[in-house]
Amino acid sequence: MPVEPLAPSRPAPTTPSTPATPTVFDDAVARLGRIGGEAGIEEEILESLRRPAATLTANLPVRMDDGSTRYFEAFRCRYNDVRGPAKGGIRFHPAVDREEVQALALWMTLKCAVVDLPYGGGKGGVVVDPKSLSRMEVERLSRAYIRATAGFIGPDTDIPAPDVYTNERIMGWMADEYETIVGRKAPAVITGKPLALGGSHGREEATGRGAWLVIRELARSLGWQPSSIRVAVQGFGNAGYHLARLLQQDGYRIVALSDSKGGIYSEKGFDVESVRCEKLASKEVRGVYCEGSVCHVVDHERISNEELLELDVDLLVPAALEGVIGPANADRIRARVIAEVANGPVRGEVDRELFERGVIVLPDVLTNAGGVTVSYFEWVQNRQGLRWPLDEVRRRLAEILPAAFREVHGLARSEGIPLRDAAYRLALRRIADATAAQGTRTFFRG
Ligand code: GLU
Repeated sequence: MPVEPLAPSRPAPTTPSTPATPTVFDDAVARLGRIGGEAGIEEEILESLRRPAATLTANLPVRMDDGSTRYFEAFRCRYNDVRGPAKGGIRFHPAVDREEVQALALWMTLKCAVVDLPYGGGKGGVVVDPKSLSRMEVERLSRAYIRATAGFIGPDTDIPAPDVYTNERIMGWMADEYETIVGRKAPAVITGKPLALGGSHGREEATGRGAWLVIRELARSLGWQPSSIRVAVQGFGNAGYHLARLLQQDGYRIVALSDSKGGIYSEKGFDVESVRCEKLASKEVRGVYCEGSVCHVVDHERISNEELLELDVDLLVPAALEGVIGPANADRIRARVIAEVANGPVRGEVDRELFERGVIVLPDVLTNAGGVTVSYFEWVQNRQGLRWPLDEVRRRLAEILPAAFREVHGLARSEGIPLRDAAYRLALRRIADATAAQGTRTFFRG
């Protein structure tokens, strides 16, 4: 006689009607595998890049202003350090998770190799909406992050920096906390610090300036006349602002701008500095609406972030978060050139489609490398006890990024491949050289 089961049997697993969307990390690893495979990079090297060396997870206890304690989940990932200590920012954002931090750390590994800095890649993040915290709560959170990671980071192991919703003040608190823990001055542990605490001239503008240098090179190769080029910038944070400002100075027409609260569009083009002033006063770019001088100067309309991406412009600059251009909207992107100032704004799943449609994508690992390049300058200055003038920082940046562009562009042309594939190939070859110098199967077994 059949025995009555003690518990109801498990329901059969339901098959999802549509395949699950790959996570940002899966997408990053798949893209790496495709490009590396096509470039003939040894499988052993690619395999070493499919997983992070180490990811630390912590729950940060933070005393809130009302006396209660809240816990914030935090990560620090040292992805790969074969070319030098890990390097990469710390993000404070509600959407942070382990997968995102690991994808960002993988991209840092590639980015540092594209511009040939003596670094590997790392990244950190805290799951938090920093705008909902008081200043003192943000300070306690920043210090708590360092208490949890002090044994993991260091000037010769892993060097953090700013990223989305973190800034120089936060880097200052973090460096101070680290120095208190180790009992000595160690400014090279973190870059992007305030000038007064060992920061570098030119670090704040570096990501935007670097992107501008790269776009200038591309513009030259395309024979662009700036005055006839219409630009849309998604994300009016630090990088987006400085890039828009520099492009406008060159004569480009900035027809659309947005931040997390929405966007604005004007066919005549915006005066970037005025929008910045309005944003600082009203805390959002849409504050330009009839609150101050800008609305009297230009006619403009409100648009959403999604609409901005689909505008018929020459240059589209996603400068906010990852994954904003993917299978859901790639076919509606009308821009001729996409300059990835954010990390990972275009999903790997649509690389091929955009290339086949003739859309030129300036990849993040080159376009936004100005930030980490000036971070490297800051680290060098800290270690040598020097301070370079702004002119020197700008001059050195203006040597490194255009040279990297020319290398990437030359390879893309000669191989007939997208710029991203060329940038990845250069980076993978450099990482492969370092890995092979330590010995691979080919060396040991022939
Ligand atoms: N967070 C920036 C990036 O994604 C800068 C990193 C750094 O300076 O280390 O490139």
